[in-house]
Amino acid sequence: MTKFILLDIEGTTSSISFVHEKLFPYSSERMKDFIKKNKEVPEVQKILSELSAEQGCGLSLAAAAELFQSWIKEDKKHGLLKQIQGLIWKGGFEEGVLKGHIYPEVAEKLKAWTEAGIKLGIYSSGSVEAQKLLFKYSEAGDLTPLLSSHFDTKVGHKKEVESYQNIVKELGIPAEEILFLSDITEELDAAKKAGLKVTQLFRDGVPGKTSHPYAQNFDELEV
Ligand SMILES: [Mg+2]
Repeated sequence: MTKFILLDIEGTTSSISFVHEKLFPYSSERMKDFIKKNKEVPEVQKILSELSAEQGCGLSLAAAAELFQSWIKEDKKHGLLKQIQGLIWKGGFEEGVLKGHIYPEVAEKLKAWTEAGIKLGIYSSGSVEAQKLLFKYSEAGDLTPLLSSHFDTKVGHKKEVESYQNIVKELGIPAEEILFLSDITEELDAAKKAGLKVTQLFRDGVPGKTSHPYAQNFDELEV
């Protein structure tokens, strides 16, 4: 029996292109100005000083912005980058310039699962703060009341078995009662090794080669 559904975002609840063609460019275009304007804000100061410490030298504001921009281009999953992107996106979502993309059937399904007594959570390499923004300001309205847990790379990376073991521990739900949904085979491999049930999403409508159960959308899912 499924008691908990753990959801990936990109390629699962939301389109990959929304993140790569909308959110990433949005943060990249605003990076320099944002750092300049907010350099006195404690949260931003902390990110910048940690970045300098990590790089082993004091970085100018422009150099820090350029480094973050190059990481955005590489799609580097770096905690400090994710934190600063989260802050930039926050402004965009709150101003209504950004709306979180979700696939058309997702909101209804999340509601139906919640009503059936299944708890829902997100596991994404995007920071917990960014996850909450996407679902709070989604195209289908505020979905955050439906989500009881959020995990990011603080529990570990998504292709590592230990990350899923950490999530199981934190949830306090037996692994075999948790269903993990993702579009990435290696993430599902890791989750399965930790004892979770898994299903792979093929959002582009073309099922690829996989050893996992799969679906093209949430309506096709057996939970
Ligand atoms: Mg994904």
